[in-house]
Amino acid sequence: MAKKEEKTMDKIVSLCKRRGFIYPTSEIYGGLANSYDYGPMGAELLRNIRNLWWREFVNKRQDMVGIDSQIMLHPKTWLASGHVGSFNDPMVEDKKTHKRYRADHLIEEFIEGKEEFKDLVVEDLDIKEMTDFIKKYELKSPDGNEITQPKAFNLLFETAIGSVSGEKAKVYLRGETAQGIFTNFKQVLDSNRVKLPFGVGQIGKSFRNEITTGQFVFRTLEFEQAEIEYFFNPDETDWKKLFKSWQDSMWKFITEILGVKEKNLRWRRHTDKERSHYSKDTYDLDYNYPFGWKELWGIAYRTDYDLKQHVEYSKENLTYTDPKTNKKFVPHVIEPAVGVNRMFLMTLVDGFFEDKENDRIVLKLDKKLAPYKLAVFPLLKNKPELVEKAKEVYDELKESYVCDFDSNGNVGKRYRRQDEIGTPYCVTIDFDSLEDGKVTVRDRDTMEQKRVEIGKLEAYFLEEFEK
Ligand code: ATP
Repeated sequence: MAKKEEKTMDKIVSLCKRRGFIYPTSEIYGGLANSYDYGPMGAELLRNIRNLWWREFVNKRQDMVGIDSQIMLHPKTWLASGHVGSFNDPMVEDKKTHKRYRADHLIEEFIEGKEEFKDLVVEDLDIKEMTDFIKKYELKSPDGNEITQPKAFNLLFETAIGSVSGEKAKVYLRGETAQGIFTNFKQVLDSNRVKLPFGVGQIGKSFRNEITTGQFVFRTLEFEQAEIEYFFNPDETDWKKLFKSWQDSMWKFITEILGVKEKNLRWRRHTDKERSHYSKDTYDLDYNYPFGWKELWGIAYRTDYDLKQHVEYSKENLTYTDPKTNKKFVPHVIEPAVGVNRMFLMTLVDGFFEDKENDRIVLKLDKKLAPYKLAVFPLLKNKPELVEKAKEVYDELKESYVCDFDSNGNVGKRYRRQDEIGTPYCVTIDFDSLEDGKVTVRDRDTMEQKRVEIGKLEAYFLEEFEK
């Protein structure tokens, strides 16, 4: 990581803690690796992202429905999906400290910026090739010690369901939400009037035993996914066109709905070697994080592989009957899969702005994303008439907007705090307000201040939030 980039990330991490977006999990006990909790501001921002995704991809589309399946599924699910057999990362261990690392990540760090490796795609390397590479270039651990040979390390978390007799049945915490969609395919088909092509979306927690540390909420043990399986008949629907239309929807969501800058986004197509054997095409939508271009959202054409695997393992009939021809077949799927927490981090990085001229940090979040839409202040805390009026205004506005009320410290400090949590507008009640019924509305980005009549505030914000 370059020094400057490191600094940006440090500043974002510190803002997250200072302002209640993200805290290290169980910090009072020394924390837990690759685990973070979301504070009051973070919980609001996460919820906004989740709701916007659900609204865009489930509620606003006639061809989509949503489900909410369990975290623990029947263990056979993960045999059928291939996760038990091959959901692995290549792991190496520092021979001295016994700290573990992803071999591919060590190789990526080693080749970064080196001309001779500019054409090497690390994702293409299998374990044997990684072993050879590590040997040939004598790669060491970040602490400078020798490392073991890469070994396949399964990412699924295991747990057990207990019983009175003491016997326990092994189950897994889901490694992705997608499998809950496949296992419910027949139920969705039978209980809803869905016709191909249609999709099923789901948002929920997934779990992976990630060993790479230090990537903040980009890579955690427990995270939230928003996944879609879009089912279609390949004889009737041109998969290339469908794939492209999903790519366009993903791009639009990030740029138009979440308001992220296009220059920080790029498509990366998986090479033939990197792509899963059943996938016909896979792309990553990468975001330019302070630690480099990294996968935000994946999209893959997975053919009929997953449903067929579940047919084989469950012996159930997971076919669709074409209403026109009565032909039975297993549908194909296109899967757009995104991490909610990676979108969260992206919006923070994209909105983080150091306004040196005005000596402030501003989180220029899209208004739809801001944890608080408005903040209401009485100019002075110890003037009951101001506090009372401000409370009245706050009570009115909080019916329509998520609002903060703040009377601590001076107004300048309150503005700084709201700027750092991305509140688009602050409303201040001063002595003139008691006379003329007007308040000061201050804009986060321009810092412009306007006097607006209290009775017209609702209409004013309705217009401002539509912009
Ligand atoms: P990576 O290569 O970065 O480990 P992946 O290719 O394994 O990711 P997928 O299996 O395609 O990821 O999962 C779909 C999405 O879930 C990813 O695009 C990412 O946004 C998110 N995701 C995956 N693993 C994690 C994690 N450990 N923490 C947070 N988000 C994750």
